[in-house]
Amino acid sequence: MRRTALPGFLAALAFLHAPVSAQRAGAVTIQPGEECPAGMTEVRPRTCQAPEIAPPSILDYRPRSSLITTETMVPKPKYPTVDFHGHPPGLDGSAEGLRALGAAMDEIGLRVMVAASNVRGERLRQVLAGIDASPTMRDRVRVFTGIDFSGVGPGWAERAVQQLEADVAAGAVGIGEISKSFGQSIRKADGSRLRIDDPELDPVWQAAARLRIPVFIHTADPQDFYRDFDYTNERWLELALFPNRRIAAGQPSFAQLAQERDNLFRRNPSTTFVMAHMGWQANDLATLGELLDELPNLYTEVGAVLYDIGRQPRAARDFFIRYQDRILFGKDSFQPGEYPYFWRVFETDDDYFDYYRPYHAFWKLYGIDLPDVVLKKLYYANALRITPGLPQGGWPQ
Ligand SMILES: [Zn+2]
Repeated sequence: MRRTALPGFLAALAFLHAPVSAQRAGAVTIQPGEECPAGMTEVRPRTCQAPEIAPPSILDYRPRSSLITTETMVPKPKYPTVDFHGHPPGLDGSAEGLRALGAAMDEIGLRVMVAASNVRGERLRQVLAGIDASPTMRDRVRVFTGIDFSGVGPGWAERAVQQLEADVAAGAVGIGEISKSFGQSIRKADGSRLRIDDPELDPVWQAAARLRIPVFIHTADPQDFYRDFDYTNERWLELALFPNRRIAAGQPSFAQLAQERDNLFRRNPSTTFVMAHMGWQANDLATLGELLDELPNLYTEVGAVLYDIGRQPRAARDFFIRYQDRILFGKDSFQPGEYPYFWRVFETDDDYFDYYRPYHAFWKLYGIDLPDVVLKKLYYANALRITPGLPQGGWPQ
């Protein structure tokens, strides 16, 4: 019985080299470069094992960070701020609605709200009259008009330009938010898809240049929505929760929409465009930077993409400093409790803190600690410069 005399470490070695089935039920060996099968983890080099306890779903797994570090809460921004991408409640013309909006804005440090909800014609005039009648809110809300893209064909541009001129004369300070349905689902009078760079629309963009108003445009959906809907998709949970956000078959690709969008900016160099949501390219700042380098008439806005800014604090800080004259603050959906996350990312150097919407991002955020001069441009100065109709007085120098 010489074998039983083997020293203990040799016995252990023999165990490691035993067939996987002898090690532990369910373990498998993989080849170098191979990945473990789904549901398994590489617990030792080339050995994959399923957890002994059934794993929680991604909805149930909410580990609390054990990191003890600086926490800098920023309930209000360091400087008064313009929300360039607002969809505020309270513009129904009632004094009470405006009063509540003003109180909510005070709480989160917004001085001016831009209502970017495509309000045109008679409705626009009602909204503007309500704002004008409020001594406290008169200088705190501005309104964009919208373009009616239905029935683009002969005669459309003349009507659209007339509407635009009338709305600007009534007090609209810009166009927008042009919705993502532009390029995706809107059809021309002849039934074809209305391309974002359709030349029939150029008179409208040229009118915006002449009227000195910015055009605020949202194009496409986050890039992950166009990718395979599988477990490697960073937006899997969101796409699972909201089936209508999945891109239907036959829709133009992200690349197609972005190309049409960029062509629109190129063919109208005198028009100021503001691309919502950093063009859904905050995950690829180098490409976004190339676009800003190429197109001096282009600006961008940070609404709903904090998860991409705050996960790359070094690259994002460099980007915001380099393009400090081209980025505007905007939030999109009006949830007052969410604004302080933006202030904290922009103003602090905090590490590893929660984002507000788990189905957007499974990761933590970091502060990018922007210099004051950059914060001022981001929070108000860039918006004031490209939007002459915003209240121009009384901002910090
Ligand atoms: Zn919006």
